[in-house]
Amino acid sequence: MGRPYWNRHKARRKSESEKRLVCEKYLHISTMTLTEEIRRCLRMPTFDNWQWEDEEILLLLQQMYVDLDLLKKFDIDLNVLRKFLCQVYMNYNEVPFHNFQHCFTVSQMMYGIIWCLNLPDKIGDLETLILLTSCICHDLDHPGFNNIYQINARTELALRYNDISPLENHHCSVAFNILEDPTANVFRSFPPEVYKSVREGIIRCILATDMARHNEILNQFNQIAPEFDYNNRAHINLVSFFSWHLWEARRRKKTTELVLPVFVPASFWEVASNLEDD
Ligand SMILES: [Zn+2]
Repeated sequence: MGRPYWNRHKARRKSESEKRLVCEKYLHISTMTLTEEIRRCLRMPTFDNWQWEDEEILLLLQQMYVDLDLLKKFDIDLNVLRKFLCQVYMNYNEVPFHNFQHCFTVSQMMYGIIWCLNLPDKIGDLETLILLTSCICHDLDHPGFNNIYQINARTELALRYNDISPLENHHCSVAFNILEDPTANVFRSFPPEVYKSVREGIIRCILATDMARHNEILNQFNQIAPEFDYNNRAHINLVSFFSWHLWEARRRKKTTELVLPVFVPASFWEVASNLEDD
């Protein structure tokens, strides 16, 4: 067996009881109605991600599903969504970057893109559900050390996944383990073939977050960008990868000029680029 990928004793992780308390607080406020103003701002790239307590972030994530009308469209029980979000919260670690706050920042940016581009009309509700849920789950149980470390140190994760995107495989696996519990499985009412395509979609999105694939994916998108077609399935599949990597590229201050005008209006990123530096 390889070296542990993660030392729970040394990790800066909130105690389980502290996290449970946050979940209790969230469940307590989870029936609150957010103001129109907050719901409107939540859709904007200018949304202030940093002023919220964890239980409030959970409420904002819940609101994203509600405002995209995903609960009604997919017969998702609100209490199951709440349990799912709590489980997600319990499985983020207090590591310096890939923590629950980062999960929210990325999800909120994607939520902004979804509204900005009116993605549900273009890629469909199911793909939108996949995209949002993938963002929320994309760094679950991140140990704080990257793939290169995992591979060089021959950790449990590197051995389990044969050095192939060990972290991303792990985030995805944790997500589907959460979903194995019917009381937290937001997709539990889906017919098997729909569940299968949601699973495929989430795996595709989360595995695409491996930054080793960054250039490959941006290049692919740049190639199809001039004739991008929302009716082309292969192009739509690239949207999810692409939105993600565009965000990462922006975060890493790498140029995205080629793809910007075609896809996300430049004005969106001008505002967004002032928001986070890390
Ligand atoms: Zn991340």
